[in-house]
Amino acid sequence: MGLSDIRDRIAKAEADAGRAPGSVELIAVSKVQPLERVEAVLEEGHRLFGENKVQEARGKWPEFMSRFEGVSVHLIGPLQTNKARQAMELFSAIHSVDRPKLATTIARLAQEMGQCPDLFLQVNTGEEPQKAGVLPAEADAFIAEVRALDLPVKGLMCIPPAEETPSLHFALLAKIAERNGLTGLSMGMSSDFEEAIALGATHVRVGSAIFGERDYG
Ligand SMILES: *Cc1c(COP(=O)(O)O)cnc(C)c1O
Repeated sequence: MGLSDIRDRIAKAEADAGRAPGSVELIAVSKVQPLERVEAVLEEGHRLFGENKVQEARGKWPEFMSRFEGVSVHLIGPLQTNKARQAMELFSAIHSVDRPKLATTIARLAQEMGQCPDLFLQVNTGEEPQKAGVLPAEADAFIAEVRALDLPVKGLMCIPPAEETPSLHFALLAKIAERNGLTGLSMGMSSDFEEAIALGATHVRVGSAIFGERDYG
């Protein structure tokens, strides 16, 4: 495992699915990883990363961004409205827009700041009570609501339930995106990114398969 192995597997999955080389963006999920591991992946030339906490990302990325050219970081974890401004300053995309109140806050700040990250709306495809995201049945209305705020909606994101077949969730997300004319699909992690690519993922979020297991100790 490691970066070059994951890049090879993505290229193969693109080819197997008849998709153009380079049509899938690899987000290297660096949350909780030791800085040396993140730096090694930067040294290998990778430039797109994912973090799930605003505070943690603010603690490490400004410094890396000053040392390495062309780095982008995407927020893939839940966002509280009171951290929205900080998030919009640091991240080039937010994958976790999951409720109207957050969308209206982002819209207000976007006006004020004159810029807005790319947005992905999170859908709770497994309808799990503990998970963020709008329910599949509410997705069309939510997408319309966020678009009406004149925000840059790039696509949809999901995190399938751990114990279910991920492909069913990826297919559902792809279907909701398609009927709403959205092309971005943020889906697939270390254990299932190839299936996600087969079903149309444009952004895969891969952490442990690149960096090794996270040590939360
Ligand atoms: C941590 C995380 C990932 C990466 O998970 P791995 O299994 O390590 O690849 C992907 N997406 C989200 C939303 C995450 O929080």
